[in-house]
Amino acid sequence: MTEKKELTCIKCPRGCGILVETEQGRIVSISGNQCKNGKEYAEKEVTAPTRVLTTTVKVLSGTEKVVAVKSKEEIPKEKLLPAMEQIKEITVEAPVILGETILEDLCGTGIPLVATACVTRKRDKTI
Ligand code: SF4
Repeated sequence: MTEKKELTCIKCPRGCGILVETEQGRIVSISGNQCKNGKEYAEKEVTAPTRVLTTTVKVLSGTEKVVAVKSKEEIPKEKLLPAMEQIKEITVEAPVILGETILEDLCGTGIPLVATACVTRKRDKTI
């Protein structure tokens, strides 16, 4: 029996609607994509979906209380929630530099979590 899955390609702002037909878990047709990137996206989305995770991490002694972070590469979609649980437990000390590795191995994926912003250190109060 053929199963149909409708997707919206997220690889560029056009947002093409893509229809993927599968039979017993095997892709038999992909239509609606306007380019090969869309085909690749659809294949991956049906077989092994991945996403870049973006969130924030708590900062101590910083001019901001949190710093924006992201996974350096896409991680398996099923790892997003466990990764968020892991990130909730992290606190970094200011200063934080753009691109700095916050975590070497995000949730066993081998992919680092990196800062996407800077946070400077709060000046100590002087009397
Ligand atoms: S299929 Fe190609 S043109 Fe359409 S949204 Fe995806 S990347 Fe963009």
